[in-house]
Amino acid sequence: MIPYNFEYTRAKSLSEAQTMLAKNPDAKLLAGGQTLIPTMKMRLANPSALIDISNLEELSFIRASGDTLTIGATTKHGMIAASADVKRMIPALAHMASHIGDPAVRAMGTIGGSLANNDPAADYPAAALALNATIKTTNREIKADDFFTGMFSTALEDGEIITEIAFPKPDRGGYTKFCNPASRYPMAGVFVAQTKNGVRVGVTGAGPGVFRVEAMEAALAKNFTPDAVANVAVASGDLNSDIHATAEYRAHLVTVMAKRAVEQALAA
Ligand SMILES: Cc1cc2nc3c(=O)[nH]c(=O)nc-3n(C[C@H](O)[C@H](O)[C@H](O)COP(=O)(O)OP(=O)(O)OC[C@H]3O[C@@H](n4cnc5c(N)ncnc54)[C@H](O)[C@@H]3O)c2cc1C
Repeated sequence: MIPYNFEYTRAKSLSEAQTMLAKNPDAKLLAGGQTLIPTMKMRLANPSALIDISNLEELSFIRASGDTLTIGATTKHGMIAASADVKRMIPALAHMASHIGDPAVRAMGTIGGSLANNDPAADYPAAALALNATIKTTNREIKADDFFTGMFSTALEDGEIITEIAFPKPDRGGYTKFCNPASRYPMAGVFVAQTKNGVRVGVTGAGPGVFRVEAMEAALAKNFTPDAVANVAVASGDLNSDIHATAEYRAHLVTVMAKRAVEQALAA
C-alpha cells in the first residue's frame, strides 16, 4: 500500500471553510465524499488537506418560494428525492435524485458535490442545464449554461464554494436515463423542461460533457409530444465510444430517452 497523509478538518461554518481554503489552495472540500474518497483511494487525487463541509446546516436546505426552488449545496440526493416541496414543484428532479447510484450514495452524496465534480455521466448537470438553474457560490451567481465548461471541469475558480442552486419551476419536466448495469451511471440521460419561455433539453452520459439539443428544443417548442422528437437524431461524431456502447448507439439512446422524458413530463 502506498502511504498517504493528509490533514482533515471539519469546518464549523461556511466562512471558516472559506478561510481555510484561502489559506491552503491545495486543500479540497469534502461534501458527501462519494467521488472524492474513491478518487483519493485510487491515488487519482492527493490533496494535502480535506475541509469537511458535509455537516454545515447553513448549506443543507430545500426552500420553495414563488416559482423558485432553492436547494442548499450540501443537501443530500436522498433528501431531494424525498422532499414534498421538490415533488410538488419539480417532480422530475425528485424522480431523478431517487435514481442516483444506490441508497448509500443517495444518503451521502450532495447536489453541490455532484455539480462541482461535473462527471460527464452525472445526473444533476442535465437537470441544471434543462431547468436553466442558477448556481450560487461564495463569489457570484453562474447560469448553468456558463457553469459546465468540459469534462470534470466547471467555471468555479480556486477557493469558490457552491452555496445553493436555484431552479425555476417549469410547466412540465421529465427525466429518463439508460443506465450502465454495472455502475448505474447513465450511458444516456435526458432531462426535458417546458416553460413559458420555451423548451430546454439537457443530455448527460452520452458525450464528454453535458449538452443541450437545440433541434429537439425547437421541435418540442412547436409540438410538445413524444412524436416531435422521435425523428430528431443527434450527431454521433462528438459522442463517447467505449466498451459499453458505440457513439452511434448512444446517439440512438438520446432520441429514445428524449421521447420517454416527454412522455413522463406529459404524464406528471
Ligand atoms: C457507486 C456510486 C454510484 C454512483 N452513481 C451515480 C449516478 O448514477 N449518478 C450520479 O449523478 N452520480 C453518481 N455517483 C456520484 C455521486 O452522486 C456523488 O455524490 C457526486 O458525484 C459527488 O458528490 P459528493 O457530495 O459526494 O462530493 P465529494 O465527493 O465530496 O466532492 C466531489 C468534488 O466536488 C468538490 N465539492 C464538493 N462540494 C462542493 C461545493 N459545495 N462547492 C465547491 N466544490 C465542492 C470537492 O472538493 C470534490 O472535488 C455515484 C457514486 C458512487 C460511489
